[in-house]
Amino acid sequence: DEARERYVAAHPRSRALHEAARQVMPGGNTRSVLSYGPFPIAMERGEDCRLWDVDGHGYLDLCGEYTAGLFGHSEPRIHAAVQAAMARGLNLAAVGAAEGELASLLCARFPSIDLVRFTNSGTEGNLMALTAARAFTGRDMIMAFRGGYHGGVLLFSLNGPAPVTVPFPFLMADYNDTAGAVAAIRAHADRLAAVIVEPMLGSGGCIPARPDFLAALREATREVGALLVFDEVMTSRMSGGGMQEQLGITPDLTTLGKYVAGGMSFGAFGGRAEVMALFDGRLPHAGTFNNNVLSMAAGRVAMGAIFTPEVAQALFGRGEAMRAALNETLARAGTAMHFSGIGSMATVQFRPAPIERPFVQTEREEALRELFFLDMAAAGIYMARRGMAALSLPVAEADLDRFVATVGEFAQARGALL
Ligand code: PLP
Repeated sequence: DEARERYVAAHPRSRALHEAARQVMPGGNTRSVLSYGPFPIAMERGEDCRLWDVDGHGYLDLCGEYTAGLFGHSEPRIHAAVQAAMARGLNLAAVGAAEGELASLLCARFPSIDLVRFTNSGTEGNLMALTAARAFTGRDMIMAFRGGYHGGVLLFSLNGPAPVTVPFPFLMADYNDTAGAVAAIRAHADRLAAVIVEPMLGSGGCIPARPDFLAALREATREVGALLVFDEVMTSRMSGGGMQEQLGITPDLTTLGKYVAGGMSFGAFGGRAEVMALFDGRLPHAGTFNNNVLSMAAGRVAMGAIFTPEVAQALFGRGEAMRAALNETLARAGTAMHFSGIGSMATVQFRPAPIERPFVQTEREEALRELFFLDMAAAGIYMARRGMAALSLPVAEADLDRFVATVGEFAQARGALL
């Protein structure tokens, strides 16, 4: 309560903006992830990995726009590319050079992607990939994992009734439950079009898949003639060619999103040539903004010149080192609190490691998660409300040291609650 009161007192303008916005938008904004209590922090501006809110507080940005902010807020080469594209005119209703060049970059980098198409969001990329799988196989059913997140209409809850939004028949299995998933795939062999899986659950809590689990999905889908779809919207940052390259497991289709267009709106789906060839006239895939000039120009420089495979490798290593330092500090404090994840993505957990699959949070865990967010915000560190950090390239060693120290202080100050 004391942490909430302090937050409310420190953010009067954020609160006023939220109250006004609630009159015209259910939830007070248009991103469910930003609808949290008491009200979300409204930001005014960002630079590199810093943010300033409307009440004048500065933050180290470790939210990293839920992984889309990989380049920070002011990468000069991305700004220049966007400004140059703007200067050449918006909405040209035509193809342009950047579109093909960005596509070439992605096909060269991701082992599974022979051919690719662009969308406006990761959600759309997944909807199109699953549509392609259904058309290619002539089957209707999709298998997904409890706690997986593939976009606003492709949210697979942990338990309880299936969300009404998922626009096709689907089958649920438990993440990292190899035997259960393989049995379900075999049991639905004649109806199953695709299995969609995040190589690491992102929104579900930065829970990595076991390599043998993904390998078993690869084998079982091949056996029954279903397609394997890797949703690498978040995880593609883990190496130059995503987690598929890192693990040596090649899905039939891959979806991308988030940071790939340098921070502009983006999504993509791609994969085996014979599947993607469906879009050469047989399957429609229109979309006014699919190749919008700002995203294409920003993506070309982001993937071509900035986030090279070497940079991806280095960022992965820095993330691993950060998590090791965090977990060492927390272990020394004698708490079960730890950070799950791999590479440059981490989520705070208030139960012992390892965590194999998403779980229903206890009331205590919910409360601790909120307290962690509030305490980090008070210390000038902005994270996703669920306690996820996604490193951006401008984050410096000194920033990471400060984060580790602040988490250590949290464990000391709140030790009695942990
Ligand atoms: N897939 C994964 C793994 C995601 O984490 C997200 C977004 O958080 C999406 C898909 C949806 O992407 P978008 O928000 O661009 O629609």
